[in-house]
Amino acid sequence: MIPESVKIVEVGPRDGLQNESRTLPVPERIRLVQSLAEAGLKQVEAGSFVRPDLLPQISDTSQVLSGLDMDAGVGYPVLVPNMRGLDNALSAGAREIAVFAAASETFSQKNINCSISESIQRFSEVAKTAIDQGIKVRGYISCVLGCPYTGTVSPEKVLSVARSLEDMGCYEISLGDTIGIGTPVATRVLIDTIVPHIPVERLAVHFHDTYGQALANILVALQAGISVVDSSVAGLGGCPYAHGASGNVATEDVVFMLDGMGIHHGVDLSRLIIVGRSICTLLDRPVMSRVNLARAPIDFEV
Ligand code: MG
Repeated sequence: MIPESVKIVEVGPRDGLQNESRTLPVPERIRLVQSLAEAGLKQVEAGSFVRPDLLPQISDTSQVLSGLDMDAGVGYPVLVPNMRGLDNALSAGAREIAVFAAASETFSQKNINCSISESIQRFSEVAKTAIDQGIKVRGYISCVLGCPYTGTVSPEKVLSVARSLEDMGCYEISLGDTIGIGTPVATRVLIDTIVPHIPVERLAVHFHDTYGQALANILVALQAGISVVDSSVAGLGGCPYAHGASGNVATEDVVFMLDGMGIHHGVDLSRLIIVGRSICTLLDRPVMSRVNLARAPIDFEV
């Protein structure tokens, strides 16, 4: 049941950077995306077309896309919140977009100022227009294992949002534990609720390591046959709901675990470690990957 190969979706240059306090200049963001692709990642989220005043860290994504080779066999999805964002993404040459919905009503209201069903309606229009133009659409669901405002989220609610994303044509649906609070049994229950209704090939997992549960949860997802894992180099992106805590699971840690399990992924861990260190130096923040820290060369040690 465990897949022989896994696709890692690197979210550091979008989901990671948007939660960092320091804003990188565009050339540094281009270099980050390129170096991740050079390390072997085939899917690197390159930025976002949300309003620049909301997330200045990842504004100017059209300039980032213009600095990338779109024909090199690497996918560079960008986050799109609405039709205006889609227009801008299309003008910038994006070939893949990501849309997002929450599994928690309160989170949806606080995060994007509308109900879940209103967001589904909005994104259906975005997805239809994108798909009509040959653009691939990925769907994110946040709060799949808990909500920072209301606590528990039911697996059935996640399933209903997942079905809506599937209905609107998302080729892949990424289940996001936004606050990193999920544990392995909860993860298993969630996946068991969804898989009878949505093919496992269309599911991805997006775990945060806030409570140190990410790899355990990823293992459960792999055992259920899920073969797409989102992660962020060096664990970029803190957790906005737990001050000072880590956010996205680190790509280096995922790669190390997959190596140990003999699962193919195509990423060069040594190169990835160098990318992780360099970006953390630029951002003036600590490396949040255990594997990266464990591999620190002697001259890093004091
Ligand atoms: Mg994330």
